[in-house]
Amino acid sequence: VSTDPAHSLGDALAVRLTAKPRRIRTRRGALFASELDADGALSRWLEAREPAFRTIAARGTYLDDEDIDRFFRLSLPGVDELVGLVEVMRLAGQSPYDRVIVDTAPTGHTLRLLAMPATLRRIAEVLGDMQAKHRFLSESLGGAYRRDAADAVIDEIEREGKSLQALVSDPVRCAFTWVMLPEEMSVAESKDAVVGLGEIRVSVARVVVNRATPEPAGTCAACGPRFSAEKKALRAIADAFPGGRVSVVEGREEEPRGVAALRKLGQKSAVGVRVEVGSAAPVGVAGSRTRMIPEGLKLLLFGGKGGVGKTSCAAAAALAVAEAMPEKRILVLSVDPAHSLADAFGVVIGDDGRSIEPGVFAREIDANRLFSARREKYREAVDELFDSFLRGSRFDAAYDRAVVQDLIDLAPPGLDELFGVLALVDALIPTTRKAKTAPYDLVVLDTAPTGHTLRLLAMPESALEWIHALLAILLKYRHVVHLGDLAEDLLETARELKALGEVLRDPRRTRFVVVTRAAELVRAETVRLARALDEARIPRGTTLVNALTLAKPRCARCKRLTRTEAAALAKLRDEGAGATMLLAPAVYPPPRGRQALSTWARTWKMHAP
Ligand SMILES: [Zn+2]
Repeated sequence: VSTDPAHSLGDALAVRLTAKPRRIRTRRGALFASELDADGALSRWLEAREPAFRTIAARGTYLDDEDIDRFFRLSLPGVDELVGLVEVMRLAGQSPYDRVIVDTAPTGHTLRLLAMPATLRRIAEVLGDMQAKHRFLSESLGGAYRRDAADAVIDEIEREGKSLQALVSDPVRCAFTWVMLPEEMSVAESKDAVVGLGEIRVSVARVVVNRATPEPAGTCAACGPRFSAEKKALRAIADAFPGGRVSVVEGREEEPRGVAALRKLGQKSAVGVRVEVGSAAPVGVAGSRTRMIPEGLKLLLFGGKGGVGKTSCAAAAALAVAEAMPEKRILVLSVDPAHSLADAFGVVIGDDGRSIEPGVFAREIDANRLFSARREKYREAVDELFDSFLRGSRFDAAYDRAVVQDLIDLAPPGLDELFGVLALVDALIPTTRKAKTAPYDLVVLDTAPTGHTLRLLAMPESALEWIHALLAILLKYRHVVHLGDLAEDLLETARELKALGEVLRDPRRTRFVVVTRAAELVRAETVRLARALDEARIPRGTTLVNALTLAKPRCARCKRLTRTEAAALAKLRDEGAGATMLLAPAVYPPPRGRQALSTWARTWKMHAP
């Protein structure tokens, strides 16, 4: 089962997959595969519990049927994490599978997925608090309280959260295999992730280092330096996972696709993909820059499949733009919960951000911290509201207050995307309250891998829907609740989100640079991403093909790889994802720090097929 919203499992197996498990032809045993449909799974999950949720909401809040309907109609960002594990368990329970192998989304969102059992238990707690008033009333009016269907649903959610939590932290029933690349940045990300996994009591049973370069036979300008850089990274991996089971898989010349190729990969290591492009005409960085940065550009987004190197590309591009346009105030912003920006620049960054060089500022969003801050702010507002509005005494005020505080405590799914979008608003949209001009001229955005990038881009609209629903309810109850600061805050945020939505779809102000590698599986996902962006009317800029072997290859393997890669580029263009391409060479060791990134960006070449 793949739980990554940008599914690649079907590409790897070379079959079309849906949410319904499909039998895969194998020589022995029985193998089934499916790609999770999160929206479908959530509807199914909600539908079965909807009557109970409605009863609980009516009992525990002041909302009426109309209000509750309004919330049931809203789309929920972050559903992939919310229902991912629940759905995997449902599939596993449906049929007698002996083992379920889950292909997860890249790092940051996988940590969110694995933290979901705790969230389920929190949801059960909130629902329980909503029921508390009803229980209290029944007891004081009718004596004994009789449990009903609503209590059963709350118990079931609590049980589900608890058993999922037990499952993912049980090393006997659940084994986590960490897959990484033999590169410095991947090592840094993996170390952070293993700490994060430890915090939610998930242990890593095994580490697979993928796409390692085989030792070159003679001297080769292409794979020689790469091999030495990887050797260093492999030593760091051995140090980072002492006593762990680390397997190294050599990159193959042809990316493994289909059952036969995958079987071979499982059996023994083979060899990878790195190629040269024949017709690349070198152009100076000025040429690349003008194509990438039209005058008046506000937002330059970098996105693509995990492992293509978009963070390094975003960081290097930001430095190149700063060099060409020294008068611009540039913010490099990372919204991938598994931040790599600090690793790319080789300095500590974090949520407060820091100056990289004059005119360039970098920041890594910490959604949890931002959420806590906002929560504190609203907690006070809610306390004030209750103090003023329930002055004197009403016997049930304590229950109401608990419910509202609970709701404020419950982190919404899609937290990273929500705060990512709010940070963009802060950087780019001048506000009537704060300032006349925006703090930055240009934001270079390092996004999370594909699936979550699409979610981020849809976020301004989904957040607006929620704000409108909240405002409608506030307005409806304005005779009980005074509108005050909260309503004003919501209105202002709605205005800003709308403005951001307009910037996102304006080709003069926004360009999305799809970062890719010239390899089969990456290409398939790249083409889908390009189509999804076109459908969402997000203006695409040039496609950046990273990690090409532009150095003259000497060994036979590199020469073969060069041809494979050139073929992949031609396919990218034919499939509509590469009308213009910017080619970035693989360099070893990978560029790290301001100087190395700037130098690297100067070697990028425009490729006009
Ligand atoms: Zn070579």
